[in-house]
Amino acid sequence: KPIQFDRIVQECVAKMHMLAELKGIILHSETDSPIPMVADEERLHQLLVTVLDNAIKYTPEGGIVRVVCRKFAHSAQIEVEDTGVGISPEDLPHVFDRFYRGDKARTRQEGGTGLGLAIAKWIAERHGGKIRLDSKRSNGTRVFITLPL
Ligand code: ATP
Repeated sequence: KPIQFDRIVQECVAKMHMLAELKGIILHSETDSPIPMVADEERLHQLLVTVLDNAIKYTPEGGIVRVVCRKFAHSAQIEVEDTGVGISPEDLPHVFDRFYRGDKARTRQEGGTGLGLAIAKWIAERHGGKIRLDSKRSNGTRVFITLPL
């Protein structure tokens, strides 16, 4: 179905704003507009909320989560960058595995299933896109998502 991807980005950011604010995290976003795309709106919503939720979850008070969305000739690229706890090099290759939860996540109080990123990857790939994570231990995490238009 034809959708406006930039609107989905903005909706998801708006939805997560309250959570970020409650945690004392600044959520900053910037997107090109319009970004017309043929996609499953609900799934992309789920994908973005998962990634934003992680960024907020794994970032301590006072941190920053930055979302940048750019339109290219044949794709849209979204980058979600946080100033959180980061992911250790040992955990990084496994974050897309089902039920995998990193060291820092496992010791956290709030439970999580470890399914979020596995589903996010499935959604990105079903759309012919890609999702990749990059982290310099304790220097935050960056998530890159590419989706064809
Ligand atoms: P849930 O299923 O509730 O999202 P989860 O966050 O543990 O639980 P995933 O979203 O699949 O599961 O993430 C897998 C693991 O990747 C997490 O346990 C965590 O260790 C790591 N991770 C994901 N995003 C981030 C991030 N932004 N910063 C630091 N670690 C992250």
